[in-house]
Amino acid sequence: MALVNMRDLLYHAYRQHYAVGAFDIVSLDFLQGVLRGAEASRAPVILNFVVPQFGDYDFELLVAAALAGARRSPVPVALNLDHAPDLDCVVYGIRHGCNGVMIDGSRLPFERNVELTRSVVQTAHGCGIAVEGELGIVADYAEDALAAGERGVYTWPDEARQYVRQTKVDFLAVSIGTGHGMRSDRYDLDLERLTRINKAVGIPLVIHGGSGLSDAQYECLIDRGVARINYYSGLSQIAARRLRSNCLVKRTGGVVALGQGVVEAIGKEVERCLSVWGAAGRAGEVLAEAAPWNEVEHLILYNSTEDAARVEEMMAEGRRVLGAIPGVRRVYAGRALKDGAKYRYCWLVRFAHPDVVDSYRDHPDHVAFAETRFRPSAAPGRISIDYLETASGDAAPPREVAAARRRGGSI
Ligand SMILES: [Zn+2]
Repeated sequence: MALVNMRDLLYHAYRQHYAVGAFDIVSLDFLQGVLRGAEASRAPVILNFVVPQFGDYDFELLVAAALAGARRSPVPVALNLDHAPDLDCVVYGIRHGCNGVMIDGSRLPFERNVELTRSVVQTAHGCGIAVEGELGIVADYAEDALAAGERGVYTWPDEARQYVRQTKVDFLAVSIGTGHGMRSDRYDLDLERLTRINKAVGIPLVIHGGSGLSDAQYECLIDRGVARINYYSGLSQIAARRLRSNCLVKRTGGVVALGQGVVEAIGKEVERCLSVWGAAGRAGEVLAEAAPWNEVEHLILYNSTEDAARVEEMMAEGRRVLGAIPGVRRVYAGRALKDGAKYRYCWLVRFAHPDVVDSYRDHPDHVAFAETRFRPSAAPGRISIDYLETASGDAAPPREVAAARRRGGSI
């Protein structure tokens, strides 16, 4: 179980002068390839889910797979929600498994960006979750953005200092000359500006649009406080190249044959990046320092003074209301399978992090539901306990499955 707190992960990189890769996950091939590359490098890694890409895949399905992959991985992993436009989206990402979030108010006027970011920080910190904000606009090299005449706007060091102080963000994305998508020519980076931003804010800096830079440029970024590099276009091009060459060479065969080698190609490129950025071989140090990410199960056992139909209604309302509270990942409302149980009903509410125990208890929707609906229905003498998940040792897969996984093939 190597899901870790993203704050610990990035502060380790910031202090030790290397950068963690945040690789966009857009399919199961990307998830497998990125984990394979990080594990081969013994490096910490961030699995990145970018909100504007959610039309391309089913986020809820893919993030569930990523969570399972992170839990089973021997290297430290964090799951990030990237470019969330508002608080609702942040709460949704946390509910489904992200344990780091980026709020993108970069296109808003400064004051509104501060206001939005501050509200996200308050809610996310109440769930134990670290937040990245962005100041300045990272250029977009996608064709439609270029056609619309969109340009980057560089980050100003003084504004960055104010923004960090007023919002209390944990990490800051800066605009100093990189862009989303790949340019064919070399990027001209404003390193002097980056030095001044780093001095002004003193928190880990994040580079978006990390593809296409030279090794020397990466080194300069890391020297100036960059602790995380978002990298996607480079991986996407390598995966696409492999698919194109498979299409030319493999004239027969099905979809699995056409996809052969894609996971490996992604894994190799991830290994190369993690080596250049100094993250390779750091997994052990990070695991020794970083807090493991443990969820909490909030358990309530109770009886009711109401008839079964009324209790069912109350439970359905509870699932809807309580399930929307920030930091809640699942609401299970159950009835004893057999008659005569000491407690006929139960709630099991899963919290993303121990900090949610307090923020949930005080949340107005929880308070209102408890006072007007649950407590009037519950008989005296209920039990309520919060359980912290402990280190887990899951059963090993059957030999054939383990061997197929090692080979990278089917059973
Ligand atoms: Zn970005």
